[in-house]
Amino acid sequence: MGIRIYKLAEQLELSNKELIKMLQDLGVDVTSHMSTINEETAELIMDMVLGEEEGTQEDDSKVLKVEGTMTVKELSEEIDVDPSTLMAKLIGLGIMATINQELTSDQLEVVAAEYGYVVEEEEEEEEDNLFGLVNDIEDKQKDLKSRPPVITVMGHVDHGKTTLLDAIRKTEVTASEAGGITQHIGAYQVKVNGQKITFLDTPGHEAFTSMRARGAQATDIAILVVAADDGIMPQTIEAINHAKSAGVPIIVAINKMDRPNAQPDRVKQELMNHGLIPEDWGGDTVCVPVSALKGENLDELLEMIVLTAEMEELKANPTRPANGIIVEAELDRGRGPVATILIKNGTLKVGDAIVAGLASGRVRAMINDQGERVEEAGPATPVEVLGLSDVPNAGDLLEVVEDDQSARDIAQKRQNKRREDELSRNTTVNLEDLFSQIQQGEVKELNIVVKADVQGSVEAVKQSLQKLSTDEVEVKMLHGGVGGITETDVMLAAASNAIIIGFNVRPGVNARKVAEKENVDIRTYRVIYKAIDDVKSAMEGLLDPDY
Ligand code: GDP
Repeated sequence: MGIRIYKLAEQLELSNKELIKMLQDLGVDVTSHMSTINEETAELIMDMVLGEEEGTQEDDSKVLKVEGTMTVKELSEEIDVDPSTLMAKLIGLGIMATINQELTSDQLEVVAAEYGYVVEEEEEEEEDNLFGLVNDIEDKQKDLKSRPPVITVMGHVDHGKTTLLDAIRKTEVTASEAGGITQHIGAYQVKVNGQKITFLDTPGHEAFTSMRARGAQATDIAILVVAADDGIMPQTIEAINHAKSAGVPIIVAINKMDRPNAQPDRVKQELMNHGLIPEDWGGDTVCVPVSALKGENLDELLEMIVLTAEMEELKANPTRPANGIIVEAELDRGRGPVATILIKNGTLKVGDAIVAGLASGRVRAMINDQGERVEEAGPATPVEVLGLSDVPNAGDLLEVVEDDQSARDIAQKRQNKRREDELSRNTTVNLEDLFSQIQQGEVKELNIVVKADVQGSVEAVKQSLQKLSTDEVEVKMLHGGVGGITETDVMLAAASNAIIIGFNVRPGVNARKVAEKENVDIRTYRVIYKAIDDVKSAMEGLLDPDY
């Protein structure tokens, strides 16, 4: 007998999600709060959680603090190991890396361990959080009330995601006899036995994950649509993995059951292969056979959503000022910027001062998914909001702030930051600005990719270039080859901040396009000494701008 996730979570005072995430990080295959784990694993987790609280450091490993990523060079400085020794060690571990290559966190962990370090990821600086919530105060337990679950429908193309979303919306319209005028605002709510459920109208894991990448997790439960006549397909697997990595429980809708060649058991068998064990086969994955086209068995699916949501104990504080996620936004000719917001917490009211991404404003009017004007909107409710100064991006966070002035100030700060980031992203090397980049310490090495019509030129350039290195700048030929300048050369240059020099060869059309987009400096010459001369002058700030 194992232990249910939610029981253990309760014991450890963790949320189901936190616990599931911890287990997944350990490589344990769990998907929902109803999953069971064996006692050994439970003990391990308890040690981890409780041990952490007591602040016990189990071993005497040295700690390597990492903020974001680290290059091989930075790592060598940090752990005081000679770069070439470090690179040899990396090769021994199967990691081919150049000195300026950024190591992934997995690679860092492995190589640091070799030298007796444990990696500790540092929180990014506060400034990076500029786009997060300003007033992210914790709610008091007594203020928390249950809220509707937010659902995203995922699955392979053509398995019936859109049909299912439409069918569910329709059940509601007839049931509420609202006259059938539904607004497509990017999300909608239905009521099942008096309980509300919110559906995001953009199906698929791409939207789900792009929102997550921006720090906005809107979804509480994923509905995985699998066509009974087609089974698990590549995007089904992707959807499973995306939902799992977000720690979101999955309910499977086995769709197209009306088709004569429907094979629900085959679908279940395939689900097992991906770690989702159907409930009726002893697991904890709820599978509901439906026909979205005929509207069959949707009640059951909706009921299962309500049940799963109850287990998740989703709560929010309706009394606080609202925050939410932009689901959709556009510029409407008559109404100005219009954004659909999914309220995450609090209650949004007409008249509230708001910021959303780079935009600010005041809620002038709100319209719900039935097309009705509303004065306020509570947790998990989708509403269209009018009154923003600009069109925010989907996935931006919206927040109510004190007054118009603070809304404007925050938006302004964010705009400045965005501009700075954009500028700093443009510091790719080019010969024109090389000198000033060197002066500002932005460039410590000049990487060069050389392409020529004959091998002899490549060799000759390599020799001459190396002699140009100074104390401040190391000149390095990253790659040299015979032939025209290709897209791959440009991508290499872009990735390693290099310039490209060509002798009697030219870039192709695609290479030129990519170079323009990536800001890669390509120089073509007929004679070697002229190229060397240019690089030398550029390093000394004497390059003739008329080149
Ligand atoms: P999506 O790409 O996942 O959004 O799939 P769609 O909802 O666009 O559906 C793809 C096709 O499958 C359409 O032709 C639908 O009419 C059809 N379809 C969807 N659900 C069912 C169903 O339950 N039964 C049958 N027979 N066809 C369905």
